[in-house]
Amino acid sequence: MKFHQLILITLFFSGLNHGFAQANSSDLLFEKYETYREKSIEHRRFKHKDIVPLVLKMKELRGVEVEEIGHSVENRSIYMVKMGTGKTPVLLWSQMHGDEPTATQAIFDIFNFFSVSDGFDPLREKILSNLTLYFIPMLNPDGAERFTRRNALQIDLNRDARRLASPEARLLKAMRERTQAEFGFNLHDQQKYYTAGHQKIPATITFLAPAFNPAEDMNAVRGDAAKLIVQLQKMLQKYIPNGVAKWNDDFEPRAFGELMTKWGTSTVLVESGGYKNDPERQFVRKLNFVILLTAFESIADKTYDNQPIGDYFKIPLNEKMLNDLMIRRLRVKEKGRTYIEDFSFRQREIQYANATKFYHKGYIVDKGDLVTFFGYDELDADGMTMTLGKIWPKRYKNLTHFLKKNNPLDVLSQGYTAIRLRKKEPTQIPADFPLLVLGKKEGYHNSFQLGSNPSFLVKSSAGKTFAVVNGRLIKLKKLTKITSFLIEK
Ligand SMILES: [Zn+2]
Repeated sequence: MKFHQLILITLFFSGLNHGFAQANSSDLLFEKYETYREKSIEHRRFKHKDIVPLVLKMKELRGVEVEEIGHSVENRSIYMVKMGTGKTPVLLWSQMHGDEPTATQAIFDIFNFFSVSDGFDPLREKILSNLTLYFIPMLNPDGAERFTRRNALQIDLNRDARRLASPEARLLKAMRERTQAEFGFNLHDQQKYYTAGHQKIPATITFLAPAFNPAEDMNAVRGDAAKLIVQLQKMLQKYIPNGVAKWNDDFEPRAFGELMTKWGTSTVLVESGGYKNDPERQFVRKLNFVILLTAFESIADKTYDNQPIGDYFKIPLNEKMLNDLMIRRLRVKEKGRTYIEDFSFRQREIQYANATKFYHKGYIVDKGDLVTFFGYDELDADGMTMTLGKIWPKRYKNLTHFLKKNNPLDVLSQGYTAIRLRKKEPTQIPADFPLLVLGKKEGYHNSFQLGSNPSFLVKSSAGKTFAVVNGRLIKLKKLTKITSFLIEK
């Protein structure tokens, strides 16, 4: 251990002892996160086989119980990890939607956190002596295998809390009965296009204390979840200012959040959302780590109880105002005339290699006056000249052959936005490749229709040049020197 770490540990020991535990713990957890990050799961498309050894490893830890509680439709094991001896049972389940894995990663970070001994020991002790934690990581392993929301029966588990047709939903219900959880954490991901209210900032974290009846009444069970959310939301402002939202409170009679609350568990829905330049949501994963440990401490200390419940309703609503790219006031020629229009673009992820990898396909979401919408990247093209991209005249056998002869950004700078390969293999094209890649006879209609994927260059009178390819904005002046795409693999 290095000297400065020693000082830090002494500092936060004293912090915890002087009643500043709440603020200090979150800050220190955020700061020290990297120490506990589970490095074997670095991207979103990890599978059941990747987590099984991490779950089983927890068996070696004193005071931890690992139990195979059941199986998915396709017979994958579903585990529950129990730790702590406190009188307040807390149940957490992640990835009931297979393509929503961020919190699963954070759970393994938390397992690592509880597997070591360091300056956080007082916090660990406080949590484990006051709470009994029950974790169900990856409730929907069959969905994770395909990276789809639904399970292998194509049932949405979060619409199966009432009928309990699927084994995974039955399992979750049974675990609530068995643990009699006082608090529940329903851990999800949401699209990166959600914003915290009507503004440009993404809803990086969205909460909900689900209603237990259609009248959306507040009772003690729901109220405790709402108060805890108020506390977590305030804590997060430091890391994601104005980036916390709340789902609308509409009662969904088939969803687990709602029914868990009805059954007596104060349930907190946590949705991991978008954050600029975080496509694999690793920053949001870190926030999950801080959120959950902060929540455990709050439940142990009951500090959530001091929060004004009315503040819950002041959290801005989750709205879908964002896009990957917004081009404003672009002059385009359509049907023989020139029009000035805004265009919003998004990028769809097309999966391959058994849902372990993906590439992007851009498309126009909307056009016209889009003043009320935003983009992660934005360009105001007012007064700029737009030129439609052309297809590079020479054809190549495959991408490797093309890259041997050309720098794609030089090709782009010359006004060519697409290349043609005799043998196109989409799986060999990097997700952020700056040119469209067309097959031998593949058609490409470069137009500004809704749903189409136009590629073009925009030049300002001062000579600034931008390219839009595959729903992505590329600043050409700065990028022409980058040659990373020449590197294989
Ligand atoms: Zn979900």
